[in-house]
Amino acid sequence: MRAQILDGKALSTQVREQIKSRTEALITRGVHPRIEVVVAAQDPASLAYVRMKRKWAEAAGMISGSWEVTAETRQAELMDHIQELNEDSSVHGVLIQHPLPKHLDEDAALLALGAEKDVDGITPQSLGRLTAGLPGFRCATPLGMMCLIDHHQIDVTGKHAVVIGRSVILGKPAALMLLEKNATVTIAHSRTQNLADLCRTADVLVAAVGRPEMVRGNWIKPGAVVLDAGYNKVEGRTHDVGDCHYDECAEVASWITPVPGGVGPMTVASLLSNCIDAAEATLA
Ligand code: NAP
Repeated sequence: MRAQILDGKALSTQVREQIKSRTEALITRGVHPRIEVVVAAQDPASLAYVRMKRKWAEAAGMISGSWEVTAETRQAELMDHIQELNEDSSVHGVLIQHPLPKHLDEDAALLALGAEKDVDGITPQSLGRLTAGLPGFRCATPLGMMCLIDHHQIDVTGKHAVVIGRSVILGKPAALMLLEKNATVTIAHSRTQNLADLCRTADVLVAAVGRPEMVRGNWIKPGAVVLDAGYNKVEGRTHDVGDCHYDECAEVASWITPVPGGVGPMTVASLLSNCIDAAEATLA
């Protein structure tokens, strides 16, 4: 039987409706949720992501702004800007869109960002909180995946989850969030041996690799849940392609996220949802 779809487009539409109502409620209480983005001016992919985030934020009634860094931007200017955002009480969430231009120290910028405004959940402060099991903002992309499995009441307790990829923004936090949900987690990466065999033991498979269609249908355990974060441009294909071969994997899995329309829209919804949480926290 073909897998059921974990439809991120549909769920993100519901989440966006909730964000809109929460924004309206906040405005009536004198708080206008505001997200600010720091983005590389010369990176078309980053600018495209940021445009989409802005469009969704504004559609929900939020204020959305951005500060573009260029080849001329100095580290001191970047740090001053982060400091200003930290101190500006009208700003609730700040997103430092990776990657910044290479001459800038992105880690220093992330370290300087206040945890209460880190709505993308990728600063060491937020990741430390996740690791320690403390409340804090969770990384938007893996949080979007967790929302999808929660929404469909998929219980991962005691299940073997294999996460392919160990990036700070995706693989590692996805593994920690699955661990929080009592899965037994294995993290795989470019040095992992016998990856296909390992994947065949996974009840839950997270692909966060950046290699188009690397995971084939015969890597999937029958009935597994497949969460594909991959977003790859492939010449000659009209839309982005996941890290999993969708058609092959959907023949074997019980649930699967499509690309596009799976993890991608849930990432933006989770980011904005975190920002509303941050705005609501100012009233607490
Ligand atoms: P990344 O920083 O490049 O990390 C990729 C990870 O994959 C690394 O840990 C790497 O291992 C591992 N890897 C590479 N080749 C491998 C192989 N042949 N076998 C096993 N593991 C391998 O990428 P990322 O930022 O995590 O992004 C991963 C994917 O998710 C990309 O397609 C990206 O576009 C997408 N993404 C989607 C969203 C969204 O909103 N949907 C958000 C962010 C990223 P090593 O650590 O050993 O190098």
